[in-house]
Amino acid sequence: MGKFAHDEIVPFRESGLTKKEQVADMFNNIAFKYDFLNRFLSVGIDIWWRKKAISELKSLQPKVVLDVATGTADVAILTYKMLNPEKIIGIDISDGMLEIGRKKLKEKNLDQYITLQNGDSASLPFEDNTFNAITVAFGVRNFQLLEKGLSEMLRVLKPGGKLVVLEFSKPTAPVFSQFYHLYMNIITPTIGKLFSKNRDAYQYLNDSVQAFPEGQSFLKIMNGAGFTQTYLKKLSFGICTIYCGSK
Ligand code: SAM
Repeated sequence: MGKFAHDEIVPFRESGLTKKEQVADMFNNIAFKYDFLNRFLSVGIDIWWRKKAISELKSLQPKVVLDVATGTADVAILTYKMLNPEKIIGIDISDGMLEIGRKKLKEKNLDQYITLQNGDSASLPFEDNTFNAITVAFGVRNFQLLEKGLSEMLRVLKPGGKLVVLEFSKPTAPVFSQFYHLYMNIITPTIGKLFSKNRDAYQYLNDSVQAFPEGQSFLKIMNGAGFTQTYLKKLSFGICTIYCGSK
């Protein structure tokens, strides 16, 4: 049994693989359509959410940044454009996503500033006190070991460094939340199936958002892992939340 309800939420319930293995397989399978579906399903708002999250690092002006669960490197690329750090490293457990990310970096001539490597949030392949800032967008919900991921990120942050997490949450305003549930339960899995031939992946998106310990519960988990000055900001009526914490 996992510690949190969302630990038990996996893409393919019948599979004998661990959550980590199933999540990596799932993202390998949808990698080629991931960017397109993100823009399409969020009507482009996902870019604005990512920018809002990265803005939380503006005053820190970080030189070395780690993007955990970097996927196809969208956050790493935007961070480079917005904050112009010397170096960004992106890590992810899905080679399929990383491959698409590397192609984008090459096309944009950013591969000398941003490097992508395979790595698990539960055992980050870096020395203590390495990064000025860490970003994770739509990643923590997928971690098999949430607390381990957070304590690893704290370990590799330099003292004074800052973590920014962007994650889906559930809006609460009455009419809006009904529309949101319809969208996440019916429209998203259907469109996901149509374009990526993978309904399970978009059903998992919905199930994992439902089970995730969001809001104050997540801040408590961050505090428990040892982060200080934690705070959250809700975006778009609570469809997404930014969580920040310092070392
Ligand atoms: N951050 C990217 C973005 O904003 O588009 C990608 C988000 S995507 C929804 C989630 C990513 O988390 C996937 O690429 C998946 O492979 C990765 N992931 C899941 N568990 C992970 C873990 N334990 N360590 C590293 N990456 C992980």
